[in-house]
Amino acid sequence: MSYEKVEVPEDGEPITLADEETGALDVPETPIIPIIHGDGIGRDVGPAAQQVLDAAAEATGRSIAWMRLYAGASAREKYDENLPDDTVRAIREHRVAIKGPLTTPVGAGFRSLNVALRKKLDLYANVRPTYHLDGVPSPVTDPSQMDMVNFRENTEDVYAGIEFEAGTDEVQQVKEFVEEEMGFDSTIHDGPVGIGIKPITEFGTKRLVRRAIEYAIANDRDSVTLVHKGNIMKFTEGAFRDWGYEVDEEKYADVTITEDELWDEYDGEAPDDVVVVKDRIADNMLQQLLTRTGEYDVIATMNLNGDYLSDAAGAQIGGLGIAPGANFGDGRCLAEPVHGSAPKYAGENKVNPTAMILSGRIMLEYLGWNDAADLVREAVEETISSGTVTYDLHRQIEGGTKVATSEFAENVVEKIHDLA
Ligand code: NAP
Repeated sequence: MSYEKVEVPEDGEPITLADEETGALDVPETPIIPIIHGDGIGRDVGPAAQQVLDAAAEATGRSIAWMRLYAGASAREKYDENLPDDTVRAIREHRVAIKGPLTTPVGAGFRSLNVALRKKLDLYANVRPTYHLDGVPSPVTDPSQMDMVNFRENTEDVYAGIEFEAGTDEVQQVKEFVEEEMGFDSTIHDGPVGIGIKPITEFGTKRLVRRAIEYAIANDRDSVTLVHKGNIMKFTEGAFRDWGYEVDEEKYADVTITEDELWDEYDGEAPDDVVVVKDRIADNMLQQLLTRTGEYDVIATMNLNGDYLSDAAGAQIGGLGIAPGANFGDGRCLAEPVHGSAPKYAGENKVNPTAMILSGRIMLEYLGWNDAADLVREAVEETISSGTVTYDLHRQIEGGTKVATSEFAENVVEKIHDLA
């Protein structure tokens, strides 16, 4: 494994695949873990998270050999390119990595590097756990009701990048094909038009829903909700719902029940050892998140719905500064916070590193380092409960001490030392 555009650490060993079928990993005591700090506030939250994860690893008798990778602005500065091949290859070869946010220009300019990474590495499930940490202020009266894990399909939908710009020959060809060959005349208004295509495949749907159901079974969760807008987009989002139920029926019928069965056979009271598989229309789901929070547990949905839903859910437990995530493929994980690069705060040592730290926690769990992962959560929770918070939480609480990004991380590290 030789790289030109990567900072290779002096020590550490690569993580390897222990079992091709299950995707189980063989993790050495000092694994090499690639990290991209990211654009904008990535330069603040990246090092802060690294410091906390190092402390948690060391407190549990291990260490991490960080391999610094470049993407976005840092790669443009160093190598005059957005996403060096070495960056993608290093993540592919080392299997478990973490990244901060990367900026995507709106309208013109290059396409999302985040989407490119997820597609190139076939990281098909974007998993975003949303749970309330003690002491975190929230706009809802009982934020502890929220304990949801959102499985968002990562490789298709309108995010697939099949888009045609207004005024180009390509868009004209697509328009003519749609109107003349497919019979949708007078559906698209005259004049400049941009057209995007929304592929939803049986393959993409079933592997995502399988992952969500398997997670629910393995983690004693009560339900999996398929979220879609299949009443309107029948052959894409409607198909997602149908294929979702189909894979449930094909593979998990002995451990799951549908919502109809829940009422017909169990009078609304599910036995402890089954997972209820149900579905909700996306707009209804967004309000149910607020009105019936506790009824939702694991969510499986498509790319765009999943993006909206996880930000909305994140707001209920304290905002984007808190919300973690990770992208999974088979035998691969790239952890990243839900938030973006918030350019207006870049380099100010101001924003909340919790989302990035807790994304690292998901990564530690994936390594099988559950003791280190628990330590991270406990230390973050205790730091926030003691009133030591960054600006975003400070403006929502009475009293408390407002600290910088780096100071927050130092406080979490101290708590890790106290707890270990
Ligand atoms: P954003 O960067 O997530 O920021 C939106 C707002 O959320 C911030 O102004 C801030 O709100 C709050 N926020 C975000 N992160 C925070 C943190 N760590 N601590 C405290 N508050 C935080 O969203 P955006 O402004 O829409 O997007 C900016 C760029 O990021 C875009 O180029 C977008 O494409 C990119 N992006 C990247 C990813 C990714 O890399 N996966 C994800 C989303 C967006 P207040 O100002 O109200 O405090």
